[in-house]
Amino acid sequence: MDKEMLITQNDILEKGFYDVDIDPTLDLFAEIERLKKEKNAIILAHLYQEPDIQDIADYIGDSLGLAQQAAKTDADMIVFAGVHFMAEGAKILNPSKKVVIPDLKAGCSLSESCPPPLFKKFKEQHPDHLVISYINCSAGIKALSDIICTSSNAKAIVDSLPADQKIIFAPDKNLGAWVNKVTGRDMLLWNGACMVHEIFSLEKITRLKVRHPNAKVIAHPECEEPVLRVSDFIGSTTQLLAYTRNTPHTEFIVATEAGILHQMAKQSPGKTFIPAPPDNNCACNDCPHMKRNTLEKVYLCMEYEQPEILMEEGLRIQAKKSLDRMLEISAQLGL
Ligand code: SF4
Repeated sequence: MDKEMLITQNDILEKGFYDVDIDPTLDLFAEIERLKKEKNAIILAHLYQEPDIQDIADYIGDSLGLAQQAAKTDADMIVFAGVHFMAEGAKILNPSKKVVIPDLKAGCSLSESCPPPLFKKFKEQHPDHLVISYINCSAGIKALSDIICTSSNAKAIVDSLPADQKIIFAPDKNLGAWVNKVTGRDMLLWNGACMVHEIFSLEKITRLKVRHPNAKVIAHPECEEPVLRVSDFIGSTTQLLAYTRNTPHTEFIVATEAGILHQMAKQSPGKTFIPAPPDNNCACNDCPHMKRNTLEKVYLCMEYEQPEILMEEGLRIQAKKSLDRMLEISAQLGL
């Protein structure tokens, strides 16, 4: 019997993907293109994905752009090359479409730092607060939220609310603190953080600045406040990418996940991008969750249409309300 025949849902849950051998002589790029056509599939990839996945994707972007693409696609199958909460977001917006993810175990430390039962209790303690949640959260948290935001639109969404509106911001305390700073609000912050953006070393960035005095430090607002304080530009992944493309500066120290350097180098050949070093014994600032996805797993999930994102309908409908509000406000604000 084929090994394929023996793969069960339990195997997929345990391994995270449809684990069968791939003929090493296969041209995976050509195979993935074939599967896209045969299955009317679209590949949406986050900017933190490995370069091969970015190169085969139909759309590469940050969480806002990916959600907008997922909302408007007419493909039958969405291949979400990102982490689990992102693929869940695509399913929330497209219940009739098949949404597959290369590796079901591609999680997110930030999303996991906000378990729905605990957050529900926290919310109940503050009944007069509106809940804005960063898109990096589970469907359970989205269902408990009034509006979702991304790092691209967080400031604009908060600014669109009346000044006296009390707000809980979850799950990222660093992004929340930055939004408080730039909007002058005093939002109540959930104590969550991203394992990648929390570990950048201010000391090592300072040393790099000494060696590269002309380099601009650019950072994602998920970074801690001391790193943001020394940054020349702060923005979402798409905003960082646009900044490096449009500015006359040619050298950058980049404080976000290293996958984005591939697009930066592609879009601005001749400019220099230095990944900001983390404060640990390792020189890499890769997100281990994002990097669970590989080109091989993209091929496998398209060929076998597994692992698939499935969701209980009541949860989906409740979670969709907060996502829809984000998309509506973003459209009104022209974002
Ligand atoms: S970089 Fe951080 S926020 Fe993004 S997926 Fe990885 S753990 Fe989550």
